[in-house]
Amino acid sequence: MQQTESRQAASTLAIHAGRRPDPATGALLTPIYQSTTYAQPGVGEDCPHTYSRDTNPTVSALEGALGALEDAPPAVCFSSGMAAIAALLLESLRCGDHVVVSEVVYGGTVRLLRDILADFDIAASFVDASDPRRVAAEFTERTRLILVETPGNPTLRLCDLDALGELSRSTGVPLAVDNTFLTPVLQRPLDAGAEVSIYSTTKFIDGHNATVGGALISRDEERLARLRRIRKSVGSIQAPHDAWLTLQGLKTLPLRLERHSSNAHALALGLQQLPEVEHVVYPGLVDFPQHDLARRQHTLHGGMLTFRIRGGAEAARRFVRELRLCTLAENLGAVESLVTHPATMTHGDVPAAQRAAVGIDDGLLRLSVGLEQPEDLLADIRTALERSAS
Ligand SMILES: *Cc1c(COP(=O)(O)O)cnc(C)c1O
Repeated sequence: MQQTESRQAASTLAIHAGRRPDPATGALLTPIYQSTTYAQPGVGEDCPHTYSRDTNPTVSALEGALGALEDAPPAVCFSSGMAAIAALLLESLRCGDHVVVSEVVYGGTVRLLRDILADFDIAASFVDASDPRRVAAEFTERTRLILVETPGNPTLRLCDLDALGELSRSTGVPLAVDNTFLTPVLQRPLDAGAEVSIYSTTKFIDGHNATVGGALISRDEERLARLRRIRKSVGSIQAPHDAWLTLQGLKTLPLRLERHSSNAHALALGLQQLPEVEHVVYPGLVDFPQHDLARRQHTLHGGMLTFRIRGGAEAARRFVRELRLCTLAENLGAVESLVTHPATMTHGDVPAAQRAAVGIDDGLLRLSVGLEQPEDLLADIRTALERSAS
């Protein structure tokens, strides 16, 4: 089954992979198996599911679907993206070990490493991973993992996945890529040599601001088994209802990403024309500093952009208050456009010096471009700029 499915396009897999009509009733959609436990045929006899902290049939359907999108065995799904990252770190690292992390990375990942795992004697170096030589330069004898995010949150700085995959192959240190921003539809880290792809399914994969969830995808069955064992031991499996909602969202993921990308590109070009806007960052723009790498690594560049307004933090604060269509909120990747002030919201727990070093200044705004008509979004932004200036 894996074989034939792997030849199908993402838009087909997103709808069909991992699912089949319910054998008992014919229900086309995978039911929400809202059950803690499962009747067992007899003592010591095999059964597919025993307890929903370990496995659940609705979650298994989502796992099959997500794995197929990356030509991999079923994914391991978690209660959140952070639960997925925590499981990966628990699986990869032991007391005394070291991980090299891209410096532009989700704030929760920084917090987990700095505030929690540091106390367990796990060391992390945060480096500009857009240059693989800097990653290699951080290696110690105890380096057991390279963890990068590309495009990075929120500056959209890219890492060269082929180069990092090569570094991983030549050194034997596994590479994990947080691919939340582009998803397997636009970027496939495992094909570039990554060992694990990380997803916050909360974002584009669900895509409707309805659930919090996470997933890990790998082609190494033994690693997957260890990750499942950690999930069972700490109790961080996704809830069946969340998995069901995520399965629904997944069906339109390829379609949505096309529109998220074209909307974001249109908005980035529109923002560049506004005199109040100082700087727009979107990988699809020709003046994006790593535009060549962006074009080599992805054909579409996703729904995230960042920009700076003249007048710094105070101007940004006034502007955001005047927006009507774009909501100030701490999520991304859904149909509704959301604006975030990273310095005080998603990256508020990142030390100020680390924020400054990677360019998350107080005037930076991150926009998750939704599926509204781009002209309406631009009009909202224009009006808010006018109102906040007066
Ligand atoms: C949101 C996010 C996470 C964390 O996921 P949760 O589902 O919120 O726990 C990790 N990485 C990236 C890139 C994210 O955007």
